[in-house]
Amino acid sequence: MAKSPEDEHPKKAFGWAARDSSGLLSPFKFSRRATGENDVAFKVLYCGMCHSDIHMVKNEWGDSIFPLVPGWEVRFKSSKSDRVGVGCMVDSCRSCDNCKVDLENHCPKMILTYSVKHYDGTITYGGYSDCMVAEERFIVHIPDSLPLDAAAPLLCAGITVYSPMKHYGLDKPGLHVGVVGLGGLGHVAVKFGKAMGLKVTVISTSPNKKEEALKTLGADSFLVSRDQDQLKAAFGTMDGIIDTVSAQHPMMPLFSLLKTDGKIALVGLPEHPLEVPAVGLVKGRKTIGGSMIGGMKETQEMMDFAAKHKVKADIEVIAMDYVNTAVERILKSDVKYRFVIDIGNTLKPPS
Ligand code: NAP
Ligand code: ZN
Repeated sequence: MAKSPEDEHPKKAFGWAARDSSGLLSPFKFSRRATGENDVAFKVLYCGMCHSDIHMVKNEWGDSIFPLVPGWEVRFKSSKSDRVGVGCMVDSCRSCDNCKVDLENHCPKMILTYSVKHYDGTITYGGYSDCMVAEERFIVHIPDSLPLDAAAPLLCAGITVYSPMKHYGLDKPGLHVGVVGLGGLGHVAVKFGKAMGLKVTVISTSPNKKEEALKTLGADSFLVSRDQDQLKAAFGTMDGIIDTVSAQHPMMPLFSLLKTDGKIALVGLPEHPLEVPAVGLVKGRKTIGGSMIGGMKETQEMMDFAAKHKVKADIEVIAMDYVNTAVERILKSDVKYRFVIDIGNTLKPPS
């Protein structure tokens, strides 16, 4: 992608950052790194709020670098197009075994969109900000038929559930797949599952999400995970499960829901370790595996699939200064199903 004058690097930037692990965000001024040979600088329009942003601002995974500007579901406008976005990565080595086979997400030198040291020593800052810089390979084209705000969450939530469905073979019409946790990732998993022709069962702690899961999201059935009778009735019925839960939760009931040879694809990243009872895997030859976002080729494939099947996130668009309230609401599972910050219209320069 050739650079134009509008791509010139806007050194001074501003956004909202957490200064420490209290997790509270406030206005912040900073500098963006200089653009390299193949980098593109751009103006941020919308940014989805992933639960990972909360794990990171609270330093729950122990590797946050403060001040920390979160946000990796970024819809932006460049000089060439306003139908573009970046997700969780802004660069990778581009030459390792993973990068060569379009698995940049597993590149040992992959650069996350925020809170890591870039190759030039600068720290990356995410999309809760006015402008960003990304290597051109990490830019995703958003097809015309997808709404620009509701497409933003697909850049992280979308690819995070689409990739394991493909990788673990849970994308074949007629299979019965459970989705645990009906949040940002989970609701998109339900929609992709239905678009792939699956039978989808939601496994949730929130009975109040049942009606909408069935009627609006199109799930085939709904299990309340704390209701032992409901769970027991569904034991041994599922070919696979996508587990999106953000906190510690019992795994044994999930193993029990699987048929022989069933698979659990774990994408949620709870702060504390999960307990995996061996007997749950051994009986019925079951498998548990993980998955982290997806490579860039697959991310574009996911976006095109979403456009073709009219899959988009259900969002609540918020102003930048609502972000701390939004964090509290996400922690109470009180969002249907993704907050998207209207950065373009509501982020004001700090005074
Ligand atoms: P989210 O919108 O907060 O959804 C998480 C859902 O998990 C909640 O809506 C809730 O669903 C359920 N849940 C929450 N606490 C629970 C508990 N104590 N026990 C059982 N269920 C509980 O979060 P998200 O943005 O979808 O992210 C989900 C997780 O995936 C996070 O840990 C995030 O960091 C991780 N993630 C991983 C990747 C990756 O590449 N692997 C990428 C993005 C995010 P119900 O109300 O239906 O129970
Ligand atoms: Zn690499």
